[in-house]
Amino acid sequence: PKSQPPYKEPVPDKYYKPSEPIAEPDRKANATFVMLVRNSDLPGIMSSMKQIEDRFNRKFKYPYVFLNEQPFTQEFKNYITALTDAPVEFGLIPHDDWYQPSWINETRATEAREAMVQNSVIYGGSVPYRNMCRFNSGFFYRQELLQKYRYYWRVEPDVKFFCDVDYDPFLLMQDEGKVYGFTVSLYEYPTTIPTLWNEVRAFINSNPNLVAKDNAMQFLSDDGGETYNRCHFWSNFEIGDLDLWRGEAYSKFFDYLDEQGGFYYERWGDAPVHSIGAALFARKDQIHFFNDIGYKHEPFQHCPQGAAHSKGKCWCDPSQNFDYEWYSCLSRYDKMF
Ligand code: GDP
Ligand code: MN
Repeated sequence: PKSQPPYKEPVPDKYYKPSEPIAEPDRKANATFVMLVRNSDLPGIMSSMKQIEDRFNRKFKYPYVFLNEQPFTQEFKNYITALTDAPVEFGLIPHDDWYQPSWINETRATEAREAMVQNSVIYGGSVPYRNMCRFNSGFFYRQELLQKYRYYWRVEPDVKFFCDVDYDPFLLMQDEGKVYGFTVSLYEYPTTIPTLWNEVRAFINSNPNLVAKDNAMQFLSDDGGETYNRCHFWSNFEIGDLDLWRGEAYSKFFDYLDEQGGFYYERWGDAPVHSIGAALFARKDQIHFFNDIGYKHEPFQHCPQGAAHSKGKCWCDPSQNFDYEWYSCLSRYDKMF
């Protein structure tokens, strides 16, 4: 062919409506997005990030921190930075913050994994998944790139944000004194945490002074702390105050749990560990349900109802809403107030 097909010429500028520069908000929080991902998660995290930008961050321009135990490829960085005008930083997780510690008895850990595979426990045979859960429980907030921030919003690959978020949830957290925000809560699989509650009780008994007054124990336990009802906030979405995790109570709590080895001898998830931490080391009124953030992580979604649905211009089907399904814990949260 002598010439190029016509579509190869860019559309002339005269057809474009120049996007008006969006003024920086006059007040912002000291906050960042946090994405823990592998290089292979690029398509999924681009999908999540594009939605965050379109629904929220093009107005607010909060920065992003990407974390990985392996170096991000140049290709990964190029595609990600092209999605936003906000600052993006890429961090490499230190070896010991990620991998199974040497003091874990590998024979015992292997036996535990094999038993879980026999019992078809989800991710029961996976070491990387356990590394991830331990990292999210106790190490993400200690990463160097997060030190300068106070608030974070955790975002995972392949999630959906259904509604415009036209307000600043970080400022809401800051101004209202909230420390932990969620959209979905549910029950944990009992086979992943057989001894977790015993350890929680042991910790509380030796550190009663670290437990907050007016805490959310009612969300976790139906019998005043005797047993765990397995309710937890679904941690694939979190908007939180990093100081909650950095504080003495949670740090000691995590270190105690880590010493017990349950991240490897069982399969303790960061969701129950964070939830128990937030519920016991903060006041219940510091835990916030983001009702107006329409959100899906397979297989569950929170779809705002009524006025919140129209206000956010949400596109989720309001009848597809996990809030008061039998497997949801939201009614337990509601009952505390
Ligand atoms: P699920 O939501 O419990 O099914 O678990 P995911 O596979 O979504 O993992 C939770 C989060 O950790 C996601 O943000 C993943 O991208 C991330 N993740 C999981 N495993 C790894 C890993 O081995 N390395 C890194 N860097 N990130 C991981
Ligand atoms: Mn996930």
